Amino acid sequence: MQNRTIQARKRIALVAHDHKKADLIQWASANKERLMPHELYATGTTGQLLQVSLQTPVTCLLSGPLGGDQQIGALIAEGKIDVLIFFWDPMSAQPHDPDIKALLRLVVVWNIPIACDRATADFIMTSPLMSEAYETILPDYDSYLKRKV
Ligand code: PGA
Repeated sequence: MQNRTIQARKRIALVAHDHKKADLIQWASANKERLMPHELYATGTTGQLLQVSLQTPVTCLLSGPLGGDQQIGALIAEGKIDVLIFFWDPMSAQPHDPDIKALLRLVVVWNIPIACDRATADFIMTSPLMSEAYETILPDYDSYLKRKV
């Protein structure tokens, strides 16, 4: 088993599909005080909207369909994102569906907390673990890496 320490100040990535952007912005505004102590990242359009509504800096990656989801996935794999708030749209097909699937997979590979809806986002943001360091236990990938090919 492998451990990774997540610091008290979390690196939170936020992503919302177009029909879910209003929901995310409303949620983020309602949770502004809880989000403030942390470092925020987002896909391009989501990030711009968050910066305006929260009046706080957000590291904006590329727009999701242009590679932003993949950039967040890469940051997760590198241990640079601690929490993902991902309001994906269950009612519309997305052009970057394979990227979304890849991102959801990497979240589980690296044992990252993820909220795909408002209720889960509320549960995560009100968890006492959000304001303290946390030891993540990662699956053991050593035997995979040392496999004979
Ligand atoms: P966007 O990307 O924030 O740039 O709109 C979100 C997405 O669709 O993945």
